[in-house]
Amino acid sequence: MWQNSFKDTSWTDRNDGENNTKIPLDRCPWCGGRLEYVDNAFCCSNDDCTFEEGLPVRLCDEDIYNYPPTLLFGTVDKFASIAHKVSTTKMGDDSRRLFGKGKNLNVLPPDLIIQDELHLLIGPLGSAVSLFECAIDQLCTRDDGTRPKIISSTATTRNTDLQIRTLYDRNLNIFPKNGIDYDDSFFAFYRRTENNNHFESKRKYIGIMPTGRTQMTTQMRLSAILFVHRALFEIGHQDEKDFEKVADNYYSIISYFNSLKEVGKTDALFYIEYVKYLRRLYKRVLRNGDLMECYYAGELTESEISGRLSASDVNKTFTEVATHWTLKNRLPHKEGEKWVRAILPPDYILATNMISVGLDVSRFNTIIMNSMPRNIAEYIQASSRVARNVHGLVITSHNPFRSRDVSHFEKFREFHEKLYYYVEPISITPFSKKSVEKYFSLYMAALIRHSFKELADGNSAKNLTTDELKKNVHDKVMAYIYNRYSRTMNLPVELELQKGLLTEDLKNNIEAFVDDALDQWETIAKTTIDLVYKAAPFRGKKPYLFIAPDAYDDEREQSSWTVPTSLRIVEPEAVLHVKVK
Ligand SMILES: [Zn+2]
Repeated sequence: MWQNSFKDTSWTDRNDGENNTKIPLDRCPWCGGRLEYVDNAFCCSNDDCTFEEGLPVRLCDEDIYNYPPTLLFGTVDKFASIAHKVSTTKMGDDSRRLFGKGKNLNVLPPDLIIQDELHLLIGPLGSAVSLFECAIDQLCTRDDGTRPKIISSTATTRNTDLQIRTLYDRNLNIFPKNGIDYDDSFFAFYRRTENNNHFESKRKYIGIMPTGRTQMTTQMRLSAILFVHRALFEIGHQDEKDFEKVADNYYSIISYFNSLKEVGKTDALFYIEYVKYLRRLYKRVLRNGDLMECYYAGELTESEISGRLSASDVNKTFTEVATHWTLKNRLPHKEGEKWVRAILPPDYILATNMISVGLDVSRFNTIIMNSMPRNIAEYIQASSRVARNVHGLVITSHNPFRSRDVSHFEKFREFHEKLYYYVEPISITPFSKKSVEKYFSLYMAALIRHSFKELADGNSAKNLTTDELKKNVHDKVMAYIYNRYSRTMNLPVELELQKGLLTEDLKNNIEAFVDDALDQWETIAKTTIDLVYKAAPFRGKKPYLFIAPDAYDDEREQSSWTVPTSLRIVEPEAVLHVKVK
């Protein structure tokens, strides 16, 4: 699910050589030919290709709802939209179709759910997602009670059984199981060195703790050392057969930051201060003023992979950082008849936790971690971006003014020897009072609009006026909670934490919340005419039920129906308008 409707997928022609498209699909996966976007479909430009008429991919919500696909990729963020898009008349606006229901459709709901990067579903986001999973679970359950199978993947996890119980209300089965030997599970085994039987790793961690220097200075000096080493390597190895390949693997350096503020700071210093340090060091070590100095101590280039990128910049940056370093590309050169510009990958890549998920570029083999990330799982994920294929180096620069960093440095070796042991246990509390207040209405909205035909459409909020319907809605919403409560209570005594997820107290709190919310809804429906679910800011002024999370405080406090349109707004943000006179 990429964009909401066809008009959002608009394709900009790339005759200027730049990839301006919003859709990250460029080449035909079958034959490798260029793809052309014709009539909302991707067609292969190769005349002989099977997919000349179009690839069987659907790109926007509208198209996906019209033709529910066999395999659907999405982010949890998209969950929120199923509370808002239900329609009994327009198929393109009806998310019920994803679950096999809706106009002219009566097929089985999805029966396999695959959740990648499970370790990200923690904290407030985890709680929001858990409540949503309750709705998804019910919508995917078949009439005979068969629930969907859920497979999750992650490399960094602790108390996974609790996390799975909280998110999906299921028992956990870890795969692959340990084999007869601890480090050999048949599917995978730990590699050991031949001579002393030590674990062999392609990744080397080096810890650095500056004294009497700020972290910023340390960072610049470290980077300068790494930059100069590229020149030293070329001088020593340029005649070797694999030189180009090796140089490519270590040309770009990633610098990982824990906050956008630090990225901004470094960005501001990069082109002047970093270059200054680099030139000083270069002159001290190498002294030669030939072309090498231009290559390695002239201009520096940087790229940024962080949340500051707009969606369209992401593609551009990813292409940039994946460009290979070659000797030929250092200078403008002739390719056939045409002259092409010198294109090199960036020297320095400023990154935040955005790189920790799924970015897999084999060129990245050096990373500087600027102080310890907030949790160990993040440290493992981020530093694992290097050494995917060849050996890689992780330099962790500890901040001497943060006691947590100092402590990590003091136990650097011990800590890295059992890195996974230190992954923090997760905490998700979907049924806590705060979480119910914040997200339960989103769960209710999704479930009610999907389950009751008379309450499905955007303008049918006005129909909740009879006590009978209200009772049915209440029973539907609460049935799952009652069942879940009894399942939780029936867990064995030793699973104390899992049993604490939904206590009687919390269950009663939920019921009170539901009663209150339905009363409010009924009152508004009875006292106003034409109640709709969502406010339409530019089309008349019909009374509406759902309050956006960024609405005014008093409006939000009066209503139990704060229904966000995106799970990204886990914490509210303030918008600042600057008026230029
Ligand atoms: Zn093709």
